[in-house]
Amino acid sequence: MNQKINLHDISDGRLYDIDDLVRADTNGCGGCSACCYGVGGFVELNPYDVFKMTTATQMSFDDLLLEKLELCLKGKRHFPYLRMLGAQACCSFLSQEGRCTIHASRPSICRLFPLGRVYDNQGDFKFILQTNACIKPKLDKIKVEKWIGIDHYAANKAFILAWHNFNKALEFRMKFMRDTEEVGSTNQYVLDVFFHIEAKSDFDFYDAFFKKLPSAKNHLGIL
Ligand code: SF4
Ligand code: SF4
Repeated sequence: MNQKINLHDISDGRLYDIDDLVRADTNGCGGCSACCYGVGGFVELNPYDVFKMTTATQMSFDDLLLEKLELCLKGKRHFPYLRMLGAQACCSFLSQEGRCTIHASRPSICRLFPLGRVYDNQGDFKFILQTNACIKPKLDKIKVEKWIGIDHYAANKAFILAWHNFNKALEFRMKFMRDTEEVGSTNQYVLDVFFHIEAKSDFDFYDAFFKKLPSAKNHLGIL
């Protein structure tokens, strides 16, 4: 979340750490899938999300873009988002029975919901509880870490912060790009380097990401 917002307008006003208790537990959602409709513009995907999806579906990033995802413009950048289908704008990963077909590998924005992330100026982020996000009238308390349930949280957090900082720096750099060809080739470079991942059996996503990051920054002329 990059824009300046008043936390009290969108949340309970509290900032949560990973060890805090938060009233976010939907207890398995009880057959509800309301937040899997009409959310295409909200679920921006990062390279880890796409890596997990390619592994879970055995589809390449290009194949996912044909069926399950779409590239959308955010400022001058192209990011992959979940593709919504049909008149009901249903997520392309939702089954007819209303279940997420990539539940264990769902994107981090889905994993967090109804929590969200806010970044501070000290190079860190905290979690917020978005109000009126989940339609269930009463949610139970749960530890943030348990709710997110992601493997290797410390490594994932380091990646999330590095990806956030990379995008901020690139957004600033691209503000001054007037040539549409340069904008296009920059976007293509980022997609090629970070989203087209060929995962081998002993592939370590985080290790690969942090190995590629310095040369990508150097290539793009950002710090
Ligand atoms: S990826 Fe899964 S959890 Fe996320 S919106 Fe689609 S169906 Fe719902
Ligand atoms: S709206 Fe709430 S209960 Fe319904 S699917 Fe989303 S998180 Fe679960």
